[in-house]
Amino acid sequence: MTSRRSDPIATAAATTTPGGPAALPDTMLAAVLYGRADLRLEERPRPTAGPGEVVLRVRRCGICGSDVRTYARGPSARYALPVVLGHEFVGQVVELGPGVEGVPLGARATAAPAIPCGRCAACRRGEDNLCQNLLDFGINIDGGLAEYVRIPARSIRAGALVVLPDQLSDAAAILGEPIGCCLRGLRRGAVRAGSTVVVIGDGPIGLTHAILAQEMGARRVLCVGHNPARLETIARAGAATLAVEATSDPAGAILAVLGQQPDTVVAAVPDPRALETAVRLIRDGGSVVAFGGLAGDPSITIDGNRLHYGEWTLLGSFNCTTAEFREAIDLAGRLDVGLFEATLYPLTRISDAFEAARTRATLKAVVSMEPTA
Ligand SMILES: [Zn+2]
Ligand SMILES: [Zn+2]
Repeated sequence: MTSRRSDPIATAAATTTPGGPAALPDTMLAAVLYGRADLRLEERPRPTAGPGEVVLRVRRCGICGSDVRTYARGPSARYALPVVLGHEFVGQVVELGPGVEGVPLGARATAAPAIPCGRCAACRRGEDNLCQNLLDFGINIDGGLAEYVRIPARSIRAGALVVLPDQLSDAAAILGEPIGCCLRGLRRGAVRAGSTVVVIGDGPIGLTHAILAQEMGARRVLCVGHNPARLETIARAGAATLAVEATSDPAGAILAVLGQQPDTVVAAVPDPRALETAVRLIRDGGSVVAFGGLAGDPSITIDGNRLHYGEWTLLGSFNCTTAEFREAIDLAGRLDVGLFEATLYPLTRISDAFEAARTRATLKAVVSMEPTA
């Protein structure tokens, strides 16, 4: 396919596709979630671009820990089933709806997974990650584990569709969401030059935190987990690592390695006990970041007197703002994406990709629509 620049005047009048509308098929293959452990590969009508909308031909889509948890434990009430999963995608702009400007046909692009409304109180405060009316790819609108994905007009209005520079690889571009979320978490946790940071979690999110905390000038970063292969990858990113058993006293083991209480602890695993461990570790005046959604009973117990006398801070970090997502795309080009060791799967092997992600056989399972070797 040849790409050409869109003419804003021409596209305002009519839907435009490279080579004309006939160049795109009527149907597509998609991985559709119907319920717990019920993910079906289906032939579906290809999405088309209505007014203000864009259609991307998906090139790659990462499988997120949240996709795997949803598949394994069942979708929450927010899911509009059946829905095409996937929110970490990069694609090529193949169709522009009437009125779309500034999005070149043929360009590569990615989109923030969460699309804020721009009107609610949270959006008006600039906290659009907390929007009360979020649309989310792969949750309540169809996502990127498909050959094509429709980008709603609201996403483009919000600045959440990002046209990628040529030099940014697909592999880097699909890391926009994880990088944006970790950036927000570390900033909320007041990580700065000279900080000592503990990250609980050894998956792709633990790795992203480790890389970004060092970028932000942290002097010491210790990542804690149980998976030796994953900790080895994190060590290659320059962070110290510690393997701990969940049943033992992780706080004691971590303090023994650090020799001091950390300035910031990020709890990035779904286990409420990890959050309690983080609270036990933190120095007076430090910050604990509740980064991960928790599985099972999410209650935690904290010592209210230590909170009062020690003036430490417990704060949540959820998702990232549209501005942080755009910043993350800029950052992605500077990070060593090779560390993420993506394993590529064709869409037809979606269940193998989910199984690899669930069993942690790969650090990052990614569906690629390009032929893979
Ligand atoms: Zn994700
Ligand atoms: Zn809103």
